[in-house]
Amino acid sequence: MTVRVRIAPSPTGNLHIGTARTAVFNWLFARNQGGQFILRIEDTDLERSRPEYTENILDGLTWLGFNWDEGPFFQTKRFDLYRQAIQTLLDKGLAYRCYSSEVDLEEMRSAQKARKEAPRYDNRHRNLTPEQEAAFSSEGRRPVIRFKIDDDREISWNDMVRGKVTWKGSDLGGDMVIARASETEAFAQPLYNLAVVIDDIDMKITHVIRGEDHIANTAKQILLYEALGAGIPEFAHTPLILDKEGRKLSKRRGVTSIFDFKKLGYMAEALVNYMTLLGWSPPDSTKEIFSLQQAAEQFSFDRVNKAGAKFDWDKLNWLNSQYLHNMPVSQLCDLLIPYWQEAGHEFDPVNDRAWLEQITALIGPSLVRLPVSDRYLSDTEWVEQIEALKNADPTGPSAVPSPDAIVMSRYLFTSSVEFTEEGKAQLQQPAAKTVLEAILKAVDSHQPLTEAGTQEIIKQVTKEQNLKKGLVMRSLRAALTGDVHGPDLIQSWLLLHHRGLDRVRLQQAIEN
Ligand code: GLU
Repeated sequence: MTVRVRIAPSPTGNLHIGTARTAVFNWLFARNQGGQFILRIEDTDLERSRPEYTENILDGLTWLGFNWDEGPFFQTKRFDLYRQAIQTLLDKGLAYRCYSSEVDLEEMRSAQKARKEAPRYDNRHRNLTPEQEAAFSSEGRRPVIRFKIDDDREISWNDMVRGKVTWKGSDLGGDMVIARASETEAFAQPLYNLAVVIDDIDMKITHVIRGEDHIANTAKQILLYEALGAGIPEFAHTPLILDKEGRKLSKRRGVTSIFDFKKLGYMAEALVNYMTLLGWSPPDSTKEIFSLQQAAEQFSFDRVNKAGAKFDWDKLNWLNSQYLHNMPVSQLCDLLIPYWQEAGHEFDPVNDRAWLEQITALIGPSLVRLPVSDRYLSDTEWVEQIEALKNADPTGPSAVPSPDAIVMSRYLFTSSVEFTEEGKAQLQQPAAKTVLEAILKAVDSHQPLTEAGTQEIIKQVTKEQNLKKGLVMRSLRAALTGDVHGPDLIQSWLLLHHRGLDRVRLQQAIEN
């Protein structure tokens, strides 16, 4: 048997972390088993589905590094198949037309509530005579199609994550609507549970891997498989992703859309690595950094947790920093160049390449995330999201990640420097100006300036002035970078020197 799995997102919103994580488990299992990974867009909800969401989902899955073997298939292109199945169910007497109006259903629910019963459809139109149907029809009522659910049935399956799961037919809410009528057609609009089963049968899906919020649907769907005389696939219900309070992750309370993670400066490889760890642990739990391919080699459902997986920003930040730190300088430089360009810095990406790579090497080891792009920060919706996130989760990512590559390297690009309070105070120290004058003079006699030359200048000035080396270094750093903390001073100096900015800065600090 060839394993065939599918990811079946509904294009009613942008690609969500929950769907992406379901894609991760499906993809890992398919690749582990040498099987196929199929992409199906479940766009039967005509009112809420939008092409831009489909585009976002496809782009997001591609960005994360997923390749699919078949698809994307669109359910809206497959309505004939669903209609045939509905006809079969009607012909077999397993489904029927129900004419209950919204008002009828509302009354039924209120009465159930008054009796303290769970809301359910009471199957009242299960056995209508042709005359009764005709009478409802002549009142202008449009029927829905309901599939009969036997209250006495017990439905169970061996879940690959949760073990044996059992549902009572009586807990499924009564006969289930599988299609709605349109103006002209009795079952124009097939609904999710039906479409999903027909597709999974037609696409020969062997394993249905999805979030545990679908467990009740699985019970209903098993009844449909049986009614249609089809074999039942294996099921794996993966744990939900929870926020740190243990609530289901919600887009109203934080970042959940995949491209928002990208906007926040997370790398696809790190995010996908993190999602793999949300609910699964590798056999060697000390090795947490791996590619999708490496995870696939070791993946099995035995190591998927039943309990919900708490989303941990610190862990994601750590993983992202590992990817950034382990990346070759030239590759990281390629990633940073667009951000520097966007920040309005002047440089020539080709001729200044060596200099840009040195800047990258200087700041790279402290990076946690790529910068948040200004382009995104100017997007109102995004700013609101970030605000909501900050209010909801003080430990979540801030709007400007720290340390941010743009902030960290700004002093290397701009002609004048911005001083921090500490930087200003350092330059007010009694000996600071004399130190800087001596350094400026020494720079002229150390041409071309090398790393050894800078060391020598610092040593020489320290000795001549009879000062502590720390004071010389701090004054130099304040003059060159505007601050008393920051990346390696000697490297910063050499990088500024490359553009003649060290003299300018020293001069400015002396004159002020
Ligand atoms: N379209 C469903 C969703 O987005 C997925 C259904 C399934 O995997 O069966 O939640």
